[in-house]
Amino acid sequence: MEENKEEKEKPSEIPFISFGNDEFIGKNIKKGDYVICKNCDGLHEILAAETIKNGKYIESNKLLFYKCNNNLYLCSVKGKALPGIEFRSIK
Ligand SMILES: [Zn+2]
Repeated sequence: MEENKEEKEKPSEIPFISFGNDEFIGKNIKKGDYVICKNCDGLHEILAAETIKNGKYIESNKLLFYKCNNNLYLCSVKGKALPGIEFRSIK
């Protein structure tokens, strides 16, 4: 009988996540707002992702992140909050 030569599937370095539309909270989250961190209970400023347009890096507000202990956490997609994320708007 022939040996199974199928390569063992490597785990992806980029994890997949998925959310349903009804799981997002309809808030107008934007860069410069603050998130209440679940890791350290502190406030972290929200950062925008970057995308490349016409060869230049530009900010994209489609994906928003915050940073805690040198890790980036996704907190908003297209201005809507991910489930369980609390925000503070400081002006
Ligand atoms: Zn934190």
